[in-house]
Amino acid sequence: MATPKRKTSHARTAQRKAHWLGSLGAPSTTKCTHCGEAVMSHRACPSCGFYKGRKVIDVKEI
Ligand SMILES: [Zn+2]
Repeated sequence: MATPKRKTSHARTAQRKAHWLGSLGAPSTTKCTHCGEAVMSHRACPSCGFYKGRKVIDVKEI
């Protein structure tokens, strides 16, 4: 097995974690074409159940 030649410094670990955690943002959202609600892209709308212009899931209306 290949072995690291040097110990990873605290600074290097912190830099790597800062970069990785910084890339974790909120999931990208779009507006629902049917009701205008903010929805995650490539998912059916949670409030009206529409996806690509047609109803794909049943959502209980309040
Ligand atoms: Zn909708």
